[in-house]
Formats: sequence, C-alpha cells, structure tokens
Amino acid sequence: MALLQISEPGQSTAPHQHRLAAGIDLGTTNSLVATVRSGSAAVLEDENGESILPSVVCYDKHGVSAIGREAREQAAENPYNTISSVKRLIGLSAEDITSSSAGMMFQLESTDSTVPRIKTDAGPKTAIEVSADILRSLRARAEQSLGGELGGVVVTVPAYYDDTQRQATKDAAKLAGLNIYRLVNEPTAAAIAYGLDREEVDSTIAVYDLGGGTFDISILKLEKGVFEVLSTAGDTALGGDDIDQAVVSWFVSEHNISVGDDAALQRGLLDQARAAKHQLTLANEALIQFEYQGASFSTTLSIEVFDSLVKTLVERTLKSCRAALRQAKLKKNDIDNVVMVGGSTRVPFVRKMVGEFFDQEVLTDINPDEVVAIGAALQADVLAGNTPDSDMLLLDVIPLSLGIETHGGLVEQIIPRNTTIPVARAQEFTTFKDGQTAMALHVVQGERDLVRDCRSLGRFELRGFVPAVAGQARIQVMFQVDADGLLTVSAIEKTSEVHAEVQIKPSYGLLDSEIETMIRESMTHAEHDVAARMLQEQRVEAERAVEALDAAMARDADEFLAADEKQKILDARALVVQSADSNDAEAIKTALRELESVSEVYVARRMNASVGKSMTGKHIDSYDH
Ligand code: ADP
Ligand code: MG
Repeated sequence: MALLQISEPGQSTAPHQHRLAAGIDLGTTNSLVATVRSGSAAVLEDENGESILPSVVCYDKHGVSAIGREAREQAAENPYNTISSVKRLIGLSAEDITSSSAGMMFQLESTDSTVPRIKTDAGPKTAIEVSADILRSLRARAEQSLGGELGGVVVTVPAYYDDTQRQATKDAAKLAGLNIYRLVNEPTAAAIAYGLDREEVDSTIAVYDLGGGTFDISILKLEKGVFEVLSTAGDTALGGDDIDQAVVSWFVSEHNISVGDDAALQRGLLDQARAAKHQLTLANEALIQFEYQGASFSTTLSIEVFDSLVKTLVERTLKSCRAALRQAKLKKNDIDNVVMVGGSTRVPFVRKMVGEFFDQEVLTDINPDEVVAIGAALQADVLAGNTPDSDMLLLDVIPLSLGIETHGGLVEQIIPRNTTIPVARAQEFTTFKDGQTAMALHVVQGERDLVRDCRSLGRFELRGFVPAVAGQARIQVMFQVDADGLLTVSAIEKTSEVHAEVQIKPSYGLLDSEIETMIRESMTHAEHDVAARMLQEQRVEAERAVEALDAAMARDADEFLAADEKQKILDARALVVQSADSNDAEAIKTALRELESVSEVYVARRMNASVGKSMTGKHIDSYDH
C-alpha cells in the first residue's frame, strides 16, 4: 500500500524561505481560515475581529452584495438571492437537490446543463461558484492579514464526501484563485490539531462533529504516525439548528402561541432561542423575551429544561456512534481519544453525554469551532515546506466500493469500501464476442451486486483494438484513487496496446444518507443478491458457451464431428438455451455441465488441431456500433 508522503511538495524550495499557507474549513454553517505563525496555528480574524464567517452569500445585479454575517442578517428581506448551506448542494444534480433541499428558499434555473444553477439577480449560480465566493472572502482575509499572496491552502471536506463532491470543492478553490495543496478530511484535521499524530503509541480516535445542520462521527486509527479513517456515520439533518427549533417549540407551547407560517415570527423566535442556547454554555438560565401581536412574552429557560431538550438529539447522534463503531468492528472501550468538533459541542450537556457514552473525558481544549481549520493550517504549513523535518503521513478511506459493470448487469468490485487511499487496483477483462473491437465500460459505486442498485459514476469507451476470438483480448482496467479521494479510470487492451484516455463524465455525487441507505440495503439484501447474482452469472455463462459453440461449429463442425455427435451437441445446446430463460440457476448449471460433457470430444479434437483456444474470464458487453 502506497502511503502519501505529504512533505514532498515543499522539497524543491529553498528551506529558509517561508511560504504563506493557510487551512480552510469550508463549513455548512460557518467557514474559517487559519494559519501557522511562529510555530503555532491560529484562526484569522476579519477587520471586525470576527473569526467565524457564516457560509452565506447574498447577490444583487452587480454580483456579491453581502457575505457572512451581513448576508445572514438580511436573508429575510431577500430570501431568493441569499444562499446558505451551499455545502449541502455541492456536487449534486438538480434531481438530488430538489429531494434534499426542503426548506431552502432558492429556485433552480431550468436548463439542460448538467450542473444545477440557482437563480439570483446576479445571474444563475452553481454551488461551486457560491462556494468560490466564500473562499474568495477567506482568501482576501488571509492575504490581508499575512501581507502577501497565499502559496497554497488545505481545504477540509467531510470524510464521506464522494468523488464528485471532492472534485467540486477543488473546482471552487480553483475558481477562487487558490492553489490547493490537498483536500483533507475534517475529522483527520481535527485529530491533527490535537497533535494526536505525534503521539508515540498507536491509538484509535473518535471524532464527534456536531455542527449547525449536520452530524458526523468518524473513527480514525493512528498507527506509526499514519492516520486511517476506519469508518464514518452521521446524519445530514441534525445539528445546532435542531436545538434552536426544539427551544422554540418549547417556548411556543409554554405560551400557547400559534406561529403558523408567519416567517418573521419564526425567525425572531429562532434568533432568541439561539441566543439563549449560547448563553447556557456558561450560565444556568437564560431569558427569552418576545413581543407578539402587542403582547410581550418572557420565560426563563433553565439549564435543566434545556438539557432535557438536547437529550433526544444527542441520543440520535449516539445511534450513529454505535453504527460507526460497529462498522469499524470496534467496541466503545477500544477508543483512546474522543475529539469534540463543531459549535454545538460547546453545549456542556452534549459533552457530558458523549463522555459518558465513550466512558472517558472528551477532548475540548481547542475551540470546537476552530479545531478543523487549525488542523488544516498545520497541514498546509507542512505541505508548503515550512516544516522540513515533518514526516506527517495521512491515510483516508473510500466510503463506497468502486467497480465496473460486467456482462449481464453485474458489478465487479475493483476497490472495496473502506480501502485506504491513495490506491491503485487493476483487473483484467476480456471480450464477449468474436471480432469485438470496442468495449463500453461503466464505472459504478455501491455495495450491491447488480448495477441497477448502485450509483453510476461514469462511462467510457475503449475502441480500435485488433479483432480477436471472444475471450482472447486482454483489457486491463485500472482504478486509481488519489490522495484527495479522486478517481481516475483507465483501460488498455494489452495485445494491441490500445489505450483509452478515459473521460469519466461525472454523474452527480451521493448524499451521505444515500450512502447509508445503500450500505444498509446491501446488508438486508445480501441473501437475495447472492441468488440474483448466481442466476445472472449462470445466464452469462450460458450465453457465452452458446456463442463460443456456435462460432466454432460454424467453422469446423463438419470437419471434426460425425452427424450423431453433432446432433447430441445441438440437443444439449437447446437445453442450455431453454434453461437460460428460466429463473433456475441450478438448471442452467446442469444444462451447461451436460453441454460441456457432450462437447468434450469436439473440444479435444479442435485443440489437437490447435484451432484457437478460448480464455475464460469475466466478460464485458461488446460495444454496439
Ligand atoms: P458547521 O460545521 O455546520 O459549519 P459549526 O461547527 O460552526 O458549523 O457550528 C455551528 C453551530 O454551533 C450553530 O448551530 C451554533 O448555534 C452552534 N454554537 C456555536 N456556539 C455555541 C454555543 N456556545 N453553544 C451552543 N451552540 C453553539
Ligand atoms: Mg464543521
């Protein structure tokens, strides 16, 4: 397994030259930028002394009219031009978006373009462009405060991000004029911020990240200074926003207020709730006051009541924690460190419950809003070559298996789920038909055996190889996943050395809820899948055998076979064809065995006459011209 030596990029520069580098946490709710100065990492503030940039962008006809806090505050007046939580949309198709964006106010442009565009007064905007505007703002802040151009940045992404989402994030950085050293998984960055990578002993780390609208739990393994993501789980619709909502619901029921669909009232209450929630980090009670229809309401929210509201939400996160442990095949007491990440882990009761769950003191020394950006800054510093002695290594895993469609709509897995990256795996395939000179390859992602139950990542064609007998061509398909988790697939036909420069046209990324569903389904459907796969394999086998037989017999049946021998074979062939139409894998198998046995003489005679031999193997559909 190739490990990534991330100190490489800096080695070509003069060692004494300090390059400006930064780490960026591009969050769903909030984004931050941090850098290393005189050996220690810290987040950078804007001119108002604010380090957190709310991930909200507002547009008018001239372009970006407000960003960050300012954009968030005026969202109500201009909902269709104000885009928040754009991270949820990055790398998704229009179809994905309509099903995942309930509650968001923007409208999608209806175009034929594959990348969905949000309507704004500044024209249609893709999620990549909106993210780029956020990154541009952070870049300006960094360059202003560091007094020079940034040499490069590390941007963090959720560990479960798929290929398309990672690519989209990279594109956003490029668009913002940033040189991206690497994408790094958020939990890995958090663990690095705590210096866990420098510990002498090997350890297992849980990173618990409860942000504004999402929850992620990741289990990392640190072995000889190398990080590996063992598993990830979470909930894309669970976070601080739900706590705010729970407080509002409580307040409303206390006072018997009917909010209905009064948007201004809802927003006002949510603001009050959030303010109270933040106060309760340090205080034991918070006052919620509210004017409504001329009457004024006020209630004290006690820490006890607040904790009881938070409890149900935390219990939901613990379910995901159990799932992640299960997936990593670990028990709670295998976890050596628990790193707390995300603004919502400032709630003392969250810390308490998570600590009790893992039965240990959780790590909270580094501000949980900042910890990811700080870890990213430390890595950016290494990648810029500012720490020549560093031997920091990083390993991540791919979240879902990658494979290729083979004949009959089956998936041949090339790289299984949870394989550490970077990784390269090759597999050999062969042709299905005589004289085949082209082949269609379909790259899929998922845990199921049948292509229709997996996600299509892209297709490409390998053309122009020398025609040969079915099964003779040798096509090597190579899957490479780089350190950023990006996939490249290439194919080469070995005898004629035709190489396909593949262009995987990305379909859109998976939602992590989809990932979860797919994983879950692969478990519940496992039995059915095995049966379906066996049937399908037998059918393919039958088809292949009949094709090969027909081709051979057309050439030389009369030369090698007596009339009765020929008839026997044809009878057996008919039986194979008939059974292949049934749903009985066993029947096909039996018929095939029979065909094989009656053809034995024929095969032997042909072989002796050394008329072609046929390789067995996996068969990819021939490409139809
Ligand atoms: P994300 O990673 O989703 O971009 P953050 O990690 O910045 O988001 O978390 C934002 C959330 O943290 C918001 O819901 C915010 O209300 C919450 N938060 C921030 N500070 C506190 C606090 N002191 N107490 C409770 N929640 C907090
Ligand atoms: Mg975050």
